[in-house]
Parts: sequence; structure tokens; C-alpha cells
Amino acid sequence: MKTENFWAEQHPYPKNIPVCEQLPERVDVAIVGGGFTGMNAALVLAQAGARVAVLEQNTFGWGASSRNGGMLTPGLKAPLSWIRKTHGLELARHFWGWALESIDHVERVVTDNSIACDWRRSGHLALATKPAHFERFRSNLAMLDRDFGYRNGRLLAPSEVATEIGSTAFHGAVVDDVSGSVHPAKYAFGLAAAVARSGALLCEDTRVLNLQAETGGHALRTNRGTLHAREVLLATNGYTTNLNFRARTGIFPVGSYIIVTEPLPAALQAELSPRGRMMYDSANFLIYFRLTPDGRMLFGGRNNLSTALDLHDSARRLQERMVAVYPQLRDVPLTHSWTGKLGITFDLMPHIGRVNGVHYAYGYCGHGVSISSYLGKEVGELLAGKRTASAFLNIAHPRNPVAFFERLFLPFVAQWYRLQDSLA
Ligand SMILES: Cc1cc2nc3c(=O)[nH]c(=O)nc-3n(C[C@H](O)[C@H](O)[C@H](O)COP(=O)(O)OP(=O)(O)OC[C@H]3O[C@@H](n4cnc5c(N)ncnc54)[C@H](O)[C@@H]3O)c2cc1C
Repeated sequence: MKTENFWAEQHPYPKNIPVCEQLPERVDVAIVGGGFTGMNAALVLAQAGARVAVLEQNTFGWGASSRNGGMLTPGLKAPLSWIRKTHGLELARHFWGWALESIDHVERVVTDNSIACDWRRSGHLALATKPAHFERFRSNLAMLDRDFGYRNGRLLAPSEVATEIGSTAFHGAVVDDVSGSVHPAKYAFGLAAAVARSGALLCEDTRVLNLQAETGGHALRTNRGTLHAREVLLATNGYTTNLNFRARTGIFPVGSYIIVTEPLPAALQAELSPRGRMMYDSANFLIYFRLTPDGRMLFGGRNNLSTALDLHDSARRLQERMVAVYPQLRDVPLTHSWTGKLGITFDLMPHIGRVNGVHYAYGYCGHGVSISSYLGKEVGELLAGKRTASAFLNIAHPRNPVAFFERLFLPFVAQWYRLQDSLA
């Protein structure tokens, strides 16, 4: 088994994407981080005529953007009932509609830029791990219908689940056809090619070491020299360091882990997931799984929030959970085990902000393939002067210096989650 990202091994970063040989001296906007957020922002800015440089410490898409499950599902990570209670019904309706549009946005970007990334409206299946969770699904669907006018989700009673999944591990489900799926590396690298075509400069192997305010903007000191920019956007999500103290206190990293099997026979694929849905369960330490475009079972999750688990050990634990769902996969070899960092905020909401003159957009909490793409577009439009407001800019952004010490507090959060999951 290889301990590397399957997606990027299957579809390596293309060598023919133009990158800047020399760091430019001055740009209008410097974007730190070359994932979905940074690249969607760059696309909008370059199309609006701004001189843009995207600075990425590795190759473009190297972070979570090429490592994820490739699932585009509705909603934000924060529960809709909580959003409604905290921000009111009107804003909750806005966020729900916005999150649905984010899936359409990715479809548009992929189509407009001819990105061949196995995009498909595959739909998803949310699976109840306890009978009480099935009842929660039922009341959630009723709320979506009554207060949000949303009627796409369908409840599947325990006796009907077999039509969607070859597993008896669950107590009912919700199925929704609106969700989509991509091959994340193909989407990320195709996006990089589109950004390069738009005229933005792609500066890879460029690590920003320090940000210094100066007259008319900022100086960005990097391992390749210093760049001056009128505006700076941090698009570093789970890889955010202390370039900007205030931005760092609003987010902390958590690890997510994935394994894939070798390709499965067609009959077994059809048995495990007859409609090729994106699937996840209702536990706090949730699992997410799907068939890959080449017919492997991809299975992700975590049983610990650490970003530094041993990849063989995490593969063994994930394989146990996979076999609990699908005993049919007991003897199927694994080919890859890898990890990536999620960016978690204290309210589980994404945020746009500006601190000490530096802009940031982050905080997808593991639910960011479409959300980061759309928020990147939105912050790009704000910087380009093509929009003046964003609901993500207006909501309060809880911060706490404890964010720097995630290694100290995450074990307690993990224990609390485990306890909740173990209770009937
Ligand atoms: C294992 C895993 C599975 C996931 N599965 C799903 C899923 O199925 N569905 C879903 O919706 N979401 C999923 N997510 C979340 C989703 O992938 C992320 O929300 C999204 O990719 C975030 O994009 P981003 O551009 O904000 O950040 P990233 O893609 O993480 O990009 C940030 C970049 O910043 C760069 N960087 C950081 N500091 C510096 C610096 N100082 N100088 C230069 N560059 C810097 C990093 O190298 C990195 O490439 C998953 C995430 C992981 C890790």
C-alpha cells in the first residue's frame, strides 16, 4: 500500500501549465494558497483585468483541494437549525440557497473552462447510524420543505435502503439527486490551467514567509524573493500558519484520512453502490465513501482529530470501519492511504474577513469542494470591486488564541465525540 494521494498519483500535476519563472516585483493582488479558494478568486480577478499572482508553496492544488473525497453536497457544515437559531431565518435561507448555487458554480466553471474532471450529478446518500438519527433526518426534511421550500431530499426507510447501497449497517437514509462528484486532482489541476490562461501568474514552490504592511499595500517575503501587492488574500484554509495572527486565531487544522481499494469487479461495484452515490453517515466521527471513476471503493474519515496519524495505522482503522459497512470488501487489498488538513472555525461557518489590511477566505470544516470554489469567486468579486457585500463578511467571526494550540484541546473534543457516538 502506498502512503500517498491516490488522485494525484493517478492524475499527476501537468508539466505544461505555465508558471512564473521569476517572481514579479509588483501586482495588484497577491493570493497566498493555490487551492480551490485561491484559484477561483484568481480567475475572477484576472478576468476583471487585475494583475494577479497566486503564490503556492508546493504545486497548485497540493493541499486539501487534490486530496479530498470529491463530493459536492448541499448545505454548509454548521447545522441549518443552528444557523437559523443564530442568524435568523432570512440569513439561513440565504446560506442554504448559496450552498446549493455553489454546486451549480462548479458545474459552470468545469463546463466553461472545459475541465475534464469526471464531473457528474451523482446524488448523495446520507445514512443513519442510529434509529434516532433517522428521526432527525425526517424532521430535517420536514423543516427544509416547510421553511426553505426545498423538496429534493427523499427519506428511505430502513427496508428501502437496499435499493441504494449493498450494506445492512444503517437505519434508514436520505437520498438527494442534486449533489455532484469530481475527480479532485483533475478539477484542481484543470483549474490551474484555466487560471494560467486567464492571465494570472502561477508561482509554485513559493512559500510566503512574512507579510509586512507598507505604503500602498504589503510586501510579501518569500523563499524566492519579495513581492509587493496592493491587496493580499490568504486562501490557506487548513494550512493557515501565523502569517497574520488575527486570521490564524479564527481557524485551526484537523486531519482527514482516506483509503482506496484496488479496482473492483463491475458486479461488485453495482452491488455496493448501484447508482454511484456520494455517501456519508450521521456519526460525529463520520465516514464518507464512494466509488472512484475507475471503480475503486474510496473510504474516508477519522477516529481522532490529529493531523499526524500514522498512515498505516489509520488505514487499518478505516479498513475495519469499511468492512463493518461492507463485509464484501474484507479480502480486497488497499492500494493507497493518505491524509489532508481541514480548516475548522469555532462556529463551523466559512468566513471572509480583513484584518490589518489582509483579506482571508476560509473555514469549510471538511465541506469545501463547492463551498471553497464559490467563496473564492465571491471574495475575488469583492476585491475586483464587482460586488460590495457578502453575508460571509457580515456575520461575526469567533476567534480565540487557543486555535494555536489545537494539539492540546483536540484530544478532549475527540473523546467527547467518541462518547456521543457510543451512546445509543
Ligand atoms: C481528506 C479530505 C477529504 C475531503 N473531502 C471532501 C469532500 O468530499 N467534499 C467536500 O466538500 N470537501 C471535502 N474536503 C474539504 C475540501 O477539500 C477543502 O475544503 C477545500 O479543498 C479547501 O480549499 P482551499 O483552497 O481553501 O484550501 P487548500 O486546498 O488546502 O489550499 C491551501 C493551500 O495553501 C498553501 N499554503 C499554505 N501556507 C502557504 C504559504 N505560507 N505560502 C504559500 N502557500 C501556502 C498550501 O500549500 C495549500 O496548497 C476534504 C478535505 C480533506 C483533507
